[in-house]
Amino acid sequence: MTGRSEDNLRRRIIETCLGMNRLGVNQGMAGNVSARLGDGLLITPSGMPYDAMKPADIVFLDADGQPHGERNPSSEWRFHYDILRHRGDAGAVLHAHAPFCTTLACLGREIPAFHYMVAVAGGDSVRCAPYATFGSQELSDNALTALDGRKACLLANHGMICIDRDLDAVLALAVEVETLARQYCQALQLGEPVILPAAEMRRVLEKFKTYGKQPAGS
Ligand code: 13P
Ligand code: ZN
Repeated sequence: MTGRSEDNLRRRIIETCLGMNRLGVNQGMAGNVSARLGDGLLITPSGMPYDAMKPADIVFLDADGQPHGERNPSSEWRFHYDILRHRGDAGAVLHAHAPFCTTLACLGREIPAFHYMVAVAGGDSVRCAPYATFGSQELSDNALTALDGRKACLLANHGMICIDRDLDAVLALAVEVETLARQYCQALQLGEPVILPAAEMRRVLEKFKTYGKQPAGS
């Protein structure tokens, strides 16, 4: 039995998955999504097409990482669990095989500060975590390190991870990061992109603390 708000969160996880495929951030059954629920989390099941997914297919992982539900949790439950445990700022985690992020990740390349919007992920680059087998504790450890102080990272020879306060924010961030990866790949084809100096990125990061925030009541 699940309550109304838990049921709603299960539906929103599925909508986020459908959204990431519709927006070109992912394709097919790749990727997975989770959201914090109490002292545990809800996560997509392993290897299921998103358009066939029902709320009851979403798996609950308790505070000890034990799964509860009808399906097996995503093979990547370890990094979802570890991120939500270690990052109090995160309410949702999205993993995708986003085409341009993955292109860079297959070269082991990060996204540097070729555009000021790189700051959207919380720093002056989007790091690329070293390769480890999918679903492994090593991959989770590598991802957590690459995400230190950041909201996104690439996974070498695999894809990307985004984290944010909720499902809407994490999907929007994933679109931004994939757009940056595409622009960087395109710029690399024409020449050597100009990288913004560290001092400028510090200024941008400072401005981002208030950017888009409207006064209360407006
Ligand atoms: P799951 O279907 O088990 O979530 O795996 C997809 C994936 O992207 C593995 O890295
Ligand atoms: Zn994957």
